[in-house]
Amino acid sequence: MNIETLLQKLGIEIKSRGLNGYYSISCPFSGRHKNGDKNPSFIIWEDRKIAAKCYGCGLVFGSMDELFTSICKEKGIEGFEDIVEAVEFYVPPPAKLVTSVENVVLLDETKNMDLAFSKNTEVSKAYLKGRGIDQDNLPFDIYTDKRNKRIVAAIRNRDGSLVGATGRNMLNKGHYHYFGVVTGSSLLGLERNQADRILLVEGMTDLLNAYCKLSQLGWLDRYDVYSTLTCNMTAWQKKILVEEDRPLFLGWDCDEAGLSARKKHLPHLKDSLIGVRDLRWKSSKIDFGNMSTDQLEFLLK
Ligand SMILES: [Zn+2]
Repeated sequence: MNIETLLQKLGIEIKSRGLNGYYSISCPFSGRHKNGDKNPSFIIWEDRKIAAKCYGCGLVFGSMDELFTSICKEKGIEGFEDIVEAVEFYVPPPAKLVTSVENVVLLDETKNMDLAFSKNTEVSKAYLKGRGIDQDNLPFDIYTDKRNKRIVAAIRNRDGSLVGATGRNMLNKGHYHYFGVVTGSSLLGLERNQADRILLVEGMTDLLNAYCKLSQLGWLDRYDVYSTLTCNMTAWQKKILVEEDRPLFLGWDCDEAGLSARKKHLPHLKDSLIGVRDLRWKSSKIDFGNMSTDQLEFLLK
């Protein structure tokens, strides 16, 4: 039995459904609302850390067991324990939510990545190959979120500790950040900090393609690639780049957004860093995500 059937059996009407086991219903605890929660504000999630929350009266339920036991109690229904136990709930990966301005280390890091995702699969390899990226060239692991059809990269601190992960859907190209990571307080790739220079790119694909091409050129010791995960820069990211104190090669896209972000951030970077080189090219169709090895070599020379 699934949640929908169970709600039906309890006589609860589902007002709307969303992706990944999301349901909205009128709050079953209607006594807590002035007009019985006519506009449904009670949300149930199958794949979150909490099971349900009412945005009207503030009730929160940590688990499905707790939620359905309380509903049965509220409605004076008996004998539903067996049914509740028979429900097959989706069990989310044991990742912990970490949200803080400063980076916080996730507990049990390898377990989190390895339990939540599959490592270096043929699926991600084939997908990346289609984008001109050879997974075997990458000096770090690529994960696959099979359920949500995403390729996933770990986001780490300087010391290699895990702070989150970022994924890209292989079908619709949408992005998703895992484990509650605050992207503005992280830089994808930061754990790699041995090379002479830093190459800063926008997105995850940019970073993967850059690493693939640098590896082909034998230049992995020349550039560490970091991604801001957007073409913008937070004060935290700027602080880290200044602390790194290495020449910075800025490789954000050369589209309108990338050029205006440069205007905003370059002056300050140039003031604070020993060397900043703004990498620009004419066609906005080229970016680090699709650049060929030759183009990269030419640009960095
Ligand atoms: Zn409520």
